[in-house]
Amino acid sequence: MIIGVFGDGQLGQMMALAGIPLGHRFRFLGSDQHGPASSVGQWFDVNDAASRAAFLHGCDVLSTETENVPEHILKEFAASGIPFRPDAKAVSHSQDRLIEKSLFRSLGIPTPKFLAIQSEHDLELAADSMGLPLVIKTTRLGYDGKGQKWLRDKNDVKEVWALLGNAAPLIAEQAIPFARELSVVAVRSTSGDKRCYPLAENHHAHGILRVSVAPAPRLRPETEKAAFDYATRLLTHLDYVGVMALELFEMADGSLLANEMAPRVHNSGHWSQLGAEVSQFENHVRAITGMALGNTQASRPTAMVNVIGKHHDLAALAGQSGLQIHRYGKTEREARKLGHINLYAENYQDLNARVQALTPWLPDEPVRLTEE
Ligand code: ATP
Ligand code: MG
Ligand code: MG
Repeated sequence: MIIGVFGDGQLGQMMALAGIPLGHRFRFLGSDQHGPASSVGQWFDVNDAASRAAFLHGCDVLSTETENVPEHILKEFAASGIPFRPDAKAVSHSQDRLIEKSLFRSLGIPTPKFLAIQSEHDLELAADSMGLPLVIKTTRLGYDGKGQKWLRDKNDVKEVWALLGNAAPLIAEQAIPFARELSVVAVRSTSGDKRCYPLAENHHAHGILRVSVAPAPRLRPETEKAAFDYATRLLTHLDYVGVMALELFEMADGSLLANEMAPRVHNSGHWSQLGAEVSQFENHVRAITGMALGNTQASRPTAMVNVIGKHHDLAALAGQSGLQIHRYGKTEREARKLGHINLYAENYQDLNARVQALTPWLPDEPVRLTEE
């Protein structure tokens, strides 16, 4: 099949790397002619109407590597009659944090308390009614923690409004003192088969995912069950086809609050390239092309470590067994995801030691994983 993907970054690149062996060809619609995906498929210019038409012509199925598909593109995709998987509803719901969190609530999926913010006065009211601290976010277009500020003191309302107000409406969320962050990557096929990958434990620094460990250590069975239940509720409700991710906050008692969903393959699922029989990328391709889904179980504890901001000479790592190096072909820029390292071990203690041993090759302070 010819698969057309909105976006031209690393997620599209890795979709193609998984889908080409299944006999598919890939096209990408984006704005960076030399983006990561350009090495594994044909690139089309999203800003040129003729190029967009050529992208669609002869495509068998459409998908996306980002939730931020502009409205006019969603319309063009719909008008083309080519199946868009997941469909436009799932994508547009995830573009707006207010709509997304309301959807979670309507499906009985708990979320942090939140309020819509239209004005500086609304911020004051939110601080009064929900208490501090609050996390104030733009409702649209944020990623890697961009477009969000913590409101810790009522005296800072003016400052936060000055920084974010021009992007209003905003969302004010209660700051959650979570025990840790988890995510679940789930997939649904055209025949309605649903599978979940084991939960990942996610460590962020400066708003950016740095390390995921899957299966998440020390996970209560009821917590895993709740996460699978929330993810499959979303898949079923949205009549979803493909991979989606749900980001969760785990509280000290094991209960979960949903933070956001991603209608696409997700950074916290990259570990599955090494640690599962069938990766999230292959399962996404299988789903959208109408194939049966593959095994999502983890073979052993696996970690994914992002390479952020700077290229390091990773050659010295290449000889290690149970370790994969992925580089996206991007130029260095502060806080930019340039690649990742997947590695596994027989137990969490050894896995932690392997992750610590990567410190010289990583940009930042070491990440301490929680051990079994
Ligand atoms: P992503 O790159 O995952 O798409 P994003 O910019 O869409 O990120 P969020 O996932 O909402 O933003 O927030 C980024 C991080 O900020 C979260 O993973 C979490 O660490 C922290 N955070 C967000 N909301 C809250 C909250 N209500 N309480 C506590 N921490 C929060
Ligand atoms: Mg996000
Ligand atoms: Mg997030």
